[in-house]
Amino acid sequence: MTSSRVRVLVLNAALGPLDYRVPHGMTVEPGSIVIAPLGPRQLLAVVWEPERLPCEEVGDNRLRPLLGVVDAPPIPAPLRRLIEWTADYYLAAPASVLRMALSSTSALEGAKLATEYRATGQVPDRLTPQRQQALERIGDRQGLVRELATMADVSEAVVRGLVKAGAIEAVSVDIDVPYPIPDPAYGVPVLSEQQAEVAGVLCDAVATQPFRPFLLDGVTGSGKTEVYFEAIAAAIAAGKQSLVLLPEIALTEPFLKRFHARFGCEPVAWHSDLRSTQRRRAWRAIATGQALVTVGARSALFLPYANLGLIVVDEAHETSFKQEEGVHYHARDVAVMRGLFERCPVVLASATPAIETRHQVALGRYTELKLPGRYGKAELPAIEPIDLIEEPPIRGRWIAPKLVNAIDETLARGEQTLLFLNRRGYAPLTLCRSCGHRFQCPNCTAWMVEHRLIHRLSCHHCGHMIPTPRKCPECDAEDALVACGPGVERIADEAAALFPDARIAIVTSDTLWSPAKAAEFVNRMEAGDIDLVVGTQLVTKGYHFPNLTLVGVIDADLGLAGGDLRAAERTFQQIMQVAGRAGRGEKPGHVFIQTTAPDAAVMRALVSGDAESFYAAETEARQEAEVPPFGRYAAIIVSSEDKDAANDAARRIGRAAPEVEGMHVFGPAPAPLAMLRGRHRFRLLVHARRQLDVQDVIRDWLGSVEWSSKVRVAVDVDPYNF
Ligand code: ADP
Ligand code: ZN
Repeated sequence: MTSSRVRVLVLNAALGPLDYRVPHGMTVEPGSIVIAPLGPRQLLAVVWEPERLPCEEVGDNRLRPLLGVVDAPPIPAPLRRLIEWTADYYLAAPASVLRMALSSTSALEGAKLATEYRATGQVPDRLTPQRQQALERIGDRQGLVRELATMADVSEAVVRGLVKAGAIEAVSVDIDVPYPIPDPAYGVPVLSEQQAEVAGVLCDAVATQPFRPFLLDGVTGSGKTEVYFEAIAAAIAAGKQSLVLLPEIALTEPFLKRFHARFGCEPVAWHSDLRSTQRRRAWRAIATGQALVTVGARSALFLPYANLGLIVVDEAHETSFKQEEGVHYHARDVAVMRGLFERCPVVLASATPAIETRHQVALGRYTELKLPGRYGKAELPAIEPIDLIEEPPIRGRWIAPKLVNAIDETLARGEQTLLFLNRRGYAPLTLCRSCGHRFQCPNCTAWMVEHRLIHRLSCHHCGHMIPTPRKCPECDAEDALVACGPGVERIADEAAALFPDARIAIVTSDTLWSPAKAAEFVNRMEAGDIDLVVGTQLVTKGYHFPNLTLVGVIDADLGLAGGDLRAAERTFQQIMQVAGRAGRGEKPGHVFIQTTAPDAAVMRALVSGDAESFYAAETEARQEAEVPPFGRYAAIIVSSEDKDAANDAARRIGRAAPEVEGMHVFGPAPAPLAMLRGRHRFRLLVHARRQLDVQDVIRDWLGSVEWSSKVRVAVDVDPYNF
């Protein structure tokens, strides 16, 4: 850089870009990670092209010098463009997006050696019970003092005490140890003709590196993974990096196994469960280009890949790709933009693509590649409705007789069953039979959900928990509290009563909260140690259990309640996905869906298997209503602990709404979750024509209104769940 003045983006969302002086002897370029002084503080910052981040210029004499350059590769230009685009499109502070790219400041600590701690195996005599318990909980795990303290649920002082006592020792970890290089020739599959054709198209795209989005549209079990593995193999052979995004971290473990079978080693995994040292190692290897394949949750999208050659979004229709906190972005859409800036192909893989994605295909922007049949001898399972009005379960039960019979037969054949209900816990509502009192979360507009396994009532929005009460807090009645409605725990109880010999597992984010737990579940299923799984949406994706032949959907209507514009589409996707777990091997699968509305269009489409006409009807309805993908929405959420302050700000914003042709503002009104984590929430919903630059309008509009500092205003562009 010629001038000694540079513009930087500081890692602080409240601050815009700032100018600094580069002291003598320091060299920086756009992307360099530097340390900038701000008042008495020192902040991480990234050098940026000044013309891309306009700001008020201060005179040369008032510039403060940068304090240092971090020993890490610079943030590459394509990622800088992605950060700008994301901030612009989702109306977020560029620094908030940058934070995701830097992942955690610890990723940047210069030292190549980290110090972790682990048990020495020597247990001193006379340990306090607390220290002893801490040692037991830590087991053979390793981590920073802070991490070990969290694992053992003790204070850091307890861990330090154990270090002093010689029970725990420091180990130094070299974070620049390279990751193994996956071998494209390790476990090469013999592809079916169809697979080979599709893989050929993808490999060509990887070899020539144009920006090109693909929709890899293949029914569940058609071998999409095997196909995109070939594209990854081509990227590895070309020395290029690949990124695979998965919707849940619970899916990484089975993915790692499959990857290992194909490439002879594991890829780099990136998710929230990583220890700080693992995170630093992965970040550096990705930034230097040493790590060739990364698999991760949506946050892996913002890492500084040195030469990305392929992006895969698996189960691309999944709504968990939509981030609902902090920067509200949709990882599927940002992935396509990253492909644009990196100039590389992007593969969206799904058996039930989102209507938005199908629309991009219809417009000719994405190339569709189809795998219409299951791989090998496997057939798609038949889906049969159970009319809950005609053939209801016996009173107080939730599994209808027809499904009970099917489970019975499946158990008798020694095959596995999956019962699906997208509701954690035992019962979604607890009610006092005597006075009608309902248990509500004090912080949220939500009922407290009973979790019988841990004897608690819990709020699924804020995590608030209370011990399950014995008597009603309102009327003091004893034994009057009743559980209303089913959750997975209740279904598991019912199944245990019906089939006392069956080995039953509950699979939800409560039971599969870490990749290790997920791995344990997969192993038990594969070993045949489980006969019946009761699970939430967590079991609907990705898993491949050849001996699982029966799927029962306990409440197919559940997702249809509420006025969400994607309700029918989502129900269709979810049930197709869960149905897709059945009959993936040689044995045929069977699926029952329990519904009170067997004649609803979505149920009929599921039973007939006619996805095309269902999608066509949905798409037409959306077009008529000018809703996504034909029109667009943005939600402005105004929240505060002070209800009046939130209400007042929401009204002011409402009054200041500009008159714009093709745009309409609904509200303000209480948001669908009127209270969340103790904050009162109001919402304005903006509906606009596709062609309108609604972000620009909202930016100017919100810029013209002032509100109390107690109020937070967040914009959710392309919102879900409304
Ligand atoms: P999808 O991702 O489309 O649901 P998968 O890639 O999981 O499908 O494939 C389903 C099953 O078929 C997996 O067990 C996979 O290993 C197997 N399979 C797919 N293609 C092949 C192939 N060409 N050779 C051997 N096994 C394959
Ligand atoms: Zn709550």
